Amino acid sequence: MSEATGLARIGFVGLGIMGAHMAGHLLAAGHPLRVTNRSPDKARPLIERGAVWCDTPAAVAAGADVVITMVGHPHDVEEVWLGADGVLAQARDALLIDMSTSSPELAQRLARAAAARGCRALDAPVSGGELGAREARLSIMAGGAPEAFGQALPVLQRLGETIVHTGGPGNGQHTKMCNQLLIASTIMGVCEGLAYARSAGLDPELVLHCIGGGAAASFQLKVMGPKIVQGDFAPGFMIEHFVKDLSIALAEADRMRLQLPGAAQARKLYAQLAEQGHAREGTQALARLYGAAA
Ligand code: NAP
Repeated sequence: MSEATGLARIGFVGLGIMGAHMAGHLLAAGHPLRVTNRSPDKARPLIERGAVWCDTPAAVAAGADVVITMVGHPHDVEEVWLGADGVLAQARDALLIDMSTSSPELAQRLARAAAARGCRALDAPVSGGELGAREARLSIMAGGAPEAFGQALPVLQRLGETIVHTGGPGNGQHTKMCNQLLIASTIMGVCEGLAYARSAGLDPELVLHCIGGGAAASFQLKVMGPKIVQGDFAPGFMIEHFVKDLSIALAEADRMRLQLPGAAQARKLYAQLAEQGHAREGTQALARLYGAAA
């Protein structure tokens, strides 16, 4: 703990679309903050506000009470936790929280590796998008020991509104997969509805206004619908990350002998978009394949 404030000293790895906002809230709350990111320039605004730059995740973890990682893919998570310059190389008696969307199996492996180093671990992925991160209104689903969750709660409350302990290691990631499966089929529905509206000669803005408060209402319709109508495909949530998430969910479903035709179709469509060069666009760019965009 910081002697001056009594607040946890926090290390933060991964300052992209989500992580930059999240780290900013922790800094604003008064936590001493050490940060790193693959591209150093993304750390500059936080350093100007008082965060300390570190060259490696290991250096971020040195002396930290809590380390949060918010990187991209499972192989990134593995590298920043277990690599030669990773968090576990320097973390001592710390609480380590991976908030990236990653695989349940990796989360369980990281919890064991953390315990072997005398640390506690949580997998705590989030939902709510960039808007949720910016406004500190994320839903956070945590897997790990109850004591670790209890220790993490005051920190997580700086980042989100709905914060739930979902069970042991890996259960946070499993819960996040449920979230991603719902989004997959919902965004396909939004694209189909808007493609139909356009083909029928309807005003898509009027359609959104009319059905947005009815039985078809959803975050995807409310947030992605207008972007699709305007042809705004900037990320938000990148297609390459959605392909990653759907691949994790489908692999887990295979293991459980569960058929998920909606997710399988969504992965096929998103993989097609990625191959066409749209991997770093937002997930609403699915509308390109339906001719639903402006
Ligand atoms: P992003 O913008 O790509 O951010 C990831 C950051 O991690 C990037 O800045 C990247 O560096 C950094 N990074 C990756 N590997 C690293 C490494 N080995 N060492 C240091 N830094 C590393 O992605 P995001 O949208 O913030 O998403 C982050 C995670 O949250 C993903 O797992 C995603 O699936 C999940 N998520 C995203 C959303 C959303 O709406 N965006 C919502 C919920 C969950 P560079 O700057 O060099 O690329």
